[in-house]
Order: sequence, then structure tokens, then C-alpha cells
Amino acid sequence: MPILRQIAQLGQPILREVAQKIIDPQAPYIQALIDDMLVTAADANGVGIAAPQVFESLSLFIVASQPNPRYPNAPLMEPKAMINPEILRVWDATEKGWEGCLSIPGLRGLVPRYTRLGVRYLNRKGELREEEYTDFLARVFQHEFDHIQGILFIDRIEDTRDLFTEKEYVRSLQSHA
Ligand code: ZN
Repeated sequence: MPILRQIAQLGQPILREVAQKIIDPQAPYIQALIDDMLVTAADANGVGIAAPQVFESLSLFIVASQPNPRYPNAPLMEPKAMINPEILRVWDATEKGWEGCLSIPGLRGLVPRYTRLGVRYLNRKGELREEEYTDFLARVFQHEFDHIQGILFIDRIEDTRDLFTEKEYVRSLQSHA
């Protein structure tokens, strides 16, 4: 049975490590970790979670975009595990968009990200996948990919004025509705 994992919070050194490549994606330990990360992300209303966030310094993350209270406009997709991910290509355009992080509760920031990218990863069966992502999913991929490098969204903020508390972020959305 999958178990809910504790989520590493900002200040935990593991969030700042470069994660290790996974040698055998089909190892039972890795398969169990993926199942745990899937339930942990769903429980926390996350649209993604990276292995270092559950105290495993491994090159693995989940992208699990679906509309939820934290991201009402997120596109719906089947959750995917991405192992040893790489960014193969980026297109020039960047855009600032709101991000939060399960490891940095209570904070939202406007983060510049590429709006389109080509990526490669192994799926949980160990099969090589090459795909393109745009907009929100490209943003989630880049956020999770950063976790594998020990980078957090607050490192990408260009101006501290782009940081909001969760409460003020929700308030600003409502005032523009
Ligand atoms: Zn995060």
C-alpha cells in the first residue's frame, strides 16, 4: 500500500542537493517510491512533486496536473512519473506565471519560465519518452526539473515584489475576477 510521505520544507539541506540518476527504474524500491509520491502529491493538492521533496535525492518527479483548490485552472492529465528527465530544447519566449511549492507553504511567486520545451525522460516502465510541453505543463516540468538540481522557485524570482503570501495571492485573484 502506498504511504503518504513527509514533505521536506524550505531549509532542509536535501532540497539543495543535486539528485542522483536512477539506474534501474523498475526496481521495487523505485516503483514503491513512485506510488508514494503519487498519493502524497494528490493529498497535498500538488500538480507535481519531486523525489527530493520526500527526502529521496533521486532524479525523479511526478507531473500530475489537474484542477484543484490550489490550481483551479490546471489542465487535466493522467499523472506521469518522469525518471532521469532532461530538457532537450527550449523555445525563446518566457512568461511570468504564479507558482507555489509544497516545500514552501504559504508563499506564491511570479516566476519566469519558458513557455515551450522539448524533454526526454524514462517512464516508470523504463521506456524512453520524448515529448513537448507548453504553457502550464511546461511550467510544472521546469519547476520539478529545478528540484532535481537543488533549485527552488524563489531562486528564479526576478524581483522580491513578485512574492505574495498565499492569502494575498488568493485575494488578488478574487479582486481581478
Ligand atoms: Zn516545488
